[in-house]
Amino acid sequence: VAAAARPGTLELKGRGGPLGQIPLVIVDDGTAYVSAARLAGLLKGQWSVKGPRGILSVGKRSVQFTRNQARAIVTGQAVQLESAPRVSASDWLIPEDFLAKGLARLAPGVTASKAAAPAPRPPGKPIRAARPAVTLGELRYRSYPSFTRVVVESAGALAHAVSADKGEIRVRLGGLSLPGPHVEEVDDGLVKELRLEPAAGEVVLRAILDGQAGEVKDMVLEDPHRVVIDIYRPKEPTSREGGAPSRAQPLRLIVLDAGHGGHDPGATGPSGLTEKEVVLDVTRRVARMVEDGLGLKVALTRESDAFVPLRDRTNFGNKQRADLFVSIHANAHPRSVSEGVETYFLSSEATDNEARQVAALENGVVQLEGAQSRQKFNVLKSILWDLAQSEFQEESSSLAETVQDSMTRSLRLVNRGVKQAGFYVLGGAAMPAILIEIGFITNSREEKKLATPEHREAIARAIYAGLSEYRQRYNQRMRMSDAPPGKAAASPGKAEATR
Ligand SMILES: [Zn+2]
Repeated sequence: VAAAARPGTLELKGRGGPLGQIPLVIVDDGTAYVSAARLAGLLKGQWSVKGPRGILSVGKRSVQFTRNQARAIVTGQAVQLESAPRVSASDWLIPEDFLAKGLARLAPGVTASKAAAPAPRPPGKPIRAARPAVTLGELRYRSYPSFTRVVVESAGALAHAVSADKGEIRVRLGGLSLPGPHVEEVDDGLVKELRLEPAAGEVVLRAILDGQAGEVKDMVLEDPHRVVIDIYRPKEPTSREGGAPSRAQPLRLIVLDAGHGGHDPGATGPSGLTEKEVVLDVTRRVARMVEDGLGLKVALTRESDAFVPLRDRTNFGNKQRADLFVSIHANAHPRSVSEGVETYFLSSEATDNEARQVAALENGVVQLEGAQSRQKFNVLKSILWDLAQSEFQEESSSLAETVQDSMTRSLRLVNRGVKQAGFYVLGGAAMPAILIEIGFITNSREEKKLATPEHREAIARAIYAGLSEYRQRYNQRMRMSDAPPGKAAASPGKAEATR
């Protein structure tokens, strides 16, 4: 959550005076929402859900929200909102900007403003003894090479207790209210399915295992409230017993990810050259060089002009247990004079506005994925956040610097530097991951160069040289970490790292 976005409370005022207060709910990406049911209550209106639509009516006026749509219809007129409503098991959350853009049409005379003080309690009345039950926000999971992460997001703090039963991990969740059982199929070879069920006054999350599980770790995160359970795969019998889990291993496999593809062309140059075509060619060249020159294995997320959803790209890397993930793209910029190369690594905070725009452009592809993916878009955002600044950030930053240095040294292109931003394609990677923008295809001079095999070869060689240098340093550190203890260097690329 962006540092500035702290939860707050809004005060609704009507012509006749204050109507009451409504708390803001801030989700993982910093967007603020209000509860549809509470808003209806304050406006003395009705909230009802019919299929994909939620309707808030006040007297004869009404506003209609639709699942996954950032557009509301207020008394027959469309209003574009910052984001789509978030739908949980028990309530809908309406983007806060509806209050500025649509409230006046729905309920003339009613305004919302930041509340100065916490909601006053009627004098003399005691604070309610029994705390109200906390509603479920979302149950989600993500499979990593060495563990499966299960996240229960809720509207408030939950008490939890983990226990292992035969064939399942059970997590008792105190204080959670659940309208009915909720089943999520996982089938990742470790967890078969997740079941969230009401049981004896509380709720139990059952992770049904496929076989055995190793260690189970749990933690609690806030903003939003989450109980995070990491279920590890059992240790392989070959791993040395007693000692630390396998120390730094030599680099073995690099996943190269050519951006875009298929019905997603990426950026397009003034004379029609597409990003998807350029980056696939460059990626193939890098692959050949790495295999021949470094003797490392390379796997490509796409080898042809095919569409690959963002999530599948890192999933592929995770399944292959890749040591590095390198995504290759070409920039677009409305100012056609922009030029140069830049390398990114993942961060929830963008370096600057421009970095944020680049990430937004690259992330936009989600709109081209099916409806299902669009639905998972928010999940993806949350996962990015669940990585809690990612155990690989330092290593990714060092990889990014090495590659960026190599590229600007040998290509004599403008060095736009190493930057950070929230690229979803990097979000799920359980390994150091970077995204390289090899040039501005929207700049006609760079487009011309990008069209030539010579320039593509030069770019590929520069990326290759960067990877080669990174490997050299990596090996140096590895030798040091095999040296007597005390001199041990950090071992990068280990998915086992925990917080
Ligand atoms: Zn791109």
